[in-house]
Amino acid sequence: MMPPAAKSALFSVKWTEAMRRAGRAAIWPVFAGVLVACGAGPTAGAEPNSPSVFDGERARVIVADQVALGPRVPGSEAHGRAGEYILARLQDEGWEVEEQGFDDRGGQRRNLIGRGGAAGGPLVILGAHYDTRPIADRAEPPVEAPVPGANDGASGAAVLLELARVLPADGLDFRLWLVFFDAEDGGGLAGGEWILGSRHFAATLEDTPAAVVVVDMVGDADLQLRYELHSDEALGQQIWATAGRLGYSGFVPEPGYSILDDHIPFLELGIPAVDLIDFDYPYWHTTEDTLDKVSADSLEQVGRTLQMWLTELDFESLE
Ligand SMILES: [Zn+2]
Repeated sequence: MMPPAAKSALFSVKWTEAMRRAGRAAIWPVFAGVLVACGAGPTAGAEPNSPSVFDGERARVIVADQVALGPRVPGSEAHGRAGEYILARLQDEGWEVEEQGFDDRGGQRRNLIGRGGAAGGPLVILGAHYDTRPIADRAEPPVEAPVPGANDGASGAAVLLELARVLPADGLDFRLWLVFFDAEDGGGLAGGEWILGSRHFAATLEDTPAAVVVVDMVGDADLQLRYELHSDEALGQQIWATAGRLGYSGFVPEPGYSILDDHIPFLELGIPAVDLIDFDYPYWHTTEDTLDKVSADSLEQVGRTLQMWLTELDFESLE
């Protein structure tokens, strides 16, 4: 994403069958039990074999898988392989996949879409970019090397892919698309632009989503998610309130930065959209954006908050 304009002082599942049968009211006790278990320590609380609850350790493995491919610079072999990895995982979890190709200065790029949920009804989109920045231009001194993109690139995609495991692709009563945007992070370099994938996606969108939530840079061990100031305020408050009820300190209900990210093209269409981003990340656009900076607990806070928010979603509240 683009550097913040300024720090503004103005606030200008796969459900288990039992849960599915019991309905939404059953979700809370399940989460409450997990939270109690978390007190015993990070490994004890994750219930890594539970299919129904977002698992931060699993999400961190998905970050590691992407980082192990190498920098996912558009046009590179690693980038292509990351795309195949995302598509394969979506398909394995029962999501219907689609690739949406587009051109960037003669190079072929592709957004990746996993569709699930009901056949009709309201549409919710969760988005994240999966490409990484070609040059670590914030490194001091600047280096020609690409950004490893453990947090800036892999973390958001990992949250979406772990959600693909725990959310029932065929059991929601609304439509849910998981969208992996390409070519987000080339702005300001050799004529490159920001957020090309989401711009293309939004420009060709034939539906009107009820809500769009973008996750980007959500893996920092020192997680501090503040309100991104372009984002839809009411939608943001819902998500932060959900995190607050779950007791998650990584969501700080205070104004943060204004950031050009993949939510902007949707806001420009009048669609409520929120960017979940922790921009206080000293390794941003450096070669130090590596796996050791990414915490399973941070990924879990974001993933479980989104899982809970989706589970409780009241579409009338979005109108
Ligand atoms: Zn970036």
